[in-house]
Amino acid sequence: MPAVNGFALEIIERCNYYCKFCIRSSSPLGLHQLSFVELEGRLNILRKYFNNSSFVALTGGEPFLHPQLNMMLNLIGDCGISCSLTTNGSVFSDDYFDSLKRNNIFTIEALAKLFFDKIAQKMINYP
Ligand code: SF4
Repeated sequence: MPAVNGFALEIIERCNYYCKFCIRSSSPLGLHQLSFVELEGRLNILRKYFNNSSFVALTGGEPFLHPQLNMMLNLIGDCGISCSLTTNGSVFSDDYFDSLKRNNIFTIEALAKLFFDKIAQKMINYP
């Protein structure tokens, strides 16, 4: 059975920005979001294709607007899968540091350098 190195999941359509160049046409009007149960179902299907270097890339919209993001990060971490987050960085909250550290979030890709630097600096200094 072929292994899958990584796959991307759009967990929320909504974004607090409305960029004209957005390839996903995200905006504050986006309604669809993946539920925790739906994510669990997808991981159950996909995990048989995972290998030790497999990862999940969570995207949006803006993932930090998803009300179940912490639970999702914990679930992915419990599956032993690395995870990345693509965010615009503007609504990132310190409340996520514990789950980011605990669940092997290996990269955060922020749209604006200012936000990226702020998050990266906090993560480096986080105990
Ligand atoms: S911040 Fe990203 S997801 Fe949000 S509208 Fe802009 S490009 Fe799209």
